[in-house]
Amino acid sequence: MSEVVRTVVVKSTPLSRKLFRVFVELEGMYRNMVEQLVLYAVRNGVTSFTKLKALKYKEMRSLYPQLPSHYVHTVCQDVSTRVKSFLKRRRRGLAKKDYPEVRRVSIWLDDHLWRMRSLTSIEIATHRDWVAIELEPHKRYWEYVNSGWRLAPGVRVRLDKRNRRLIIYLVFKRSSEAYKPRGFISVDVNENHAAVLVDGKVYLFETGFRDIVLGYYYRRRRVQEKYDKLYGVNCRVKRRILRRLKERRKKSDLRWKLANIVARAARERQYAIVLEELGEEPANEMINHVRDDQLRHRIYQASFKGVQKTVEEKAREYGVPVVYVDPRNTSRTCPVHSAEITYSNGSRVGRCSKGGELWHRDVVACYNLLLRVRLGDGSSAPSLGGFNLDGSPVPLGSTATHDPILITHEVWARWKSLDVMNKHELKRINI
Ligand SMILES: [Zn+2]
Repeated sequence: MSEVVRTVVVKSTPLSRKLFRVFVELEGMYRNMVEQLVLYAVRNGVTSFTKLKALKYKEMRSLYPQLPSHYVHTVCQDVSTRVKSFLKRRRRGLAKKDYPEVRRVSIWLDDHLWRMRSLTSIEIATHRDWVAIELEPHKRYWEYVNSGWRLAPGVRVRLDKRNRRLIIYLVFKRSSEAYKPRGFISVDVNENHAAVLVDGKVYLFETGFRDIVLGYYYRRRRVQEKYDKLYGVNCRVKRRILRRLKERRKKSDLRWKLANIVARAARERQYAIVLEELGEEPANEMINHVRDDQLRHRIYQASFKGVQKTVEEKAREYGVPVVYVDPRNTSRTCPVHSAEITYSNGSRVGRCSKGGELWHRDVVACYNLLLRVRLGDGSSAPSLGGFNLDGSPVPLGSTATHDPILITHEVWARWKSLDVMNKHELKRINI
């Protein structure tokens, strides 16, 4: 049994000036507390929420006696999260400053500070008593409300000053139970593709995540250089352009779609998903050529960690079990002969040093992931999907087993599941 958590963002209806001012004041006090406690926590190495609260509760209460006392509680949680992630980034050399910057603030509310009033309105405790807020529910919100999800006690609220609204981050939870797998789908992720092995066929989903990250990085740098030279480092035009860039990048996020296709395919067949066990650090050989630490981290996050995380999330939602295996040498060992496969200068197709047959790198990786999970547990369950391991010569060239099927993202972005695929023209890579 595991728990699935989803955040759903809902806007309030526009507030009156008077009411909105209450929230501006509230945010000011909240931010002030966060800023003070972040400094204190980093300086004194306090990361635990309970410890921070024990040390600073009285002082914060006396600073803002008009605020409901639970704000100190949620501020301490907020600060503890910020400080932990800051220290983690600093350990990895990704944070250059001495203290985390408190830029965007969202107000954390626990179950003493907010409550549902109806399905379309909430109440929030402020320094001016309880305030009722009307929501603007949307389709996705109703889907969660109507389908067995329950609302978690904590929410976050952000102020949309331009439109005088609140933006409310509701958290929904649901428990799901995983089944006993009858087979496996293995997924191998690299910078620009995700290879998926299902029933003896390898599908190569083009993702282009590396290019998205790199494109964003270079565009961002160009904007920065141009405007820094023209108007100095802190100019508003530049910030606005950068903000717009970021939003566009978010929109191009294809991970959820990919994860959905994989998780559905697994659930329909009652299979488990096999993934590489990824380390904490971007050690993947494929991005070692990227010199810039931050950039390498970002590519790693977007293309490896990010895809894996969303696949895990979707799997949990659908009750699909996930198995992890050691990724070492998965693309360098022939799954039939256990001999080394050699790739000549950057080619994605290599030759087995024993059998002499050709392999596509992503196909090898998928089969090795599958093999490792099969050999690892020693159970006598599922078939390997038409793949035989007796070491007999592997047919070359044009068999379904050896040629991955490339699917460009223009095509798969429209899919809901793998089974629509036969209707489309698919490109088979001939090796
Ligand atoms: Zn071989």
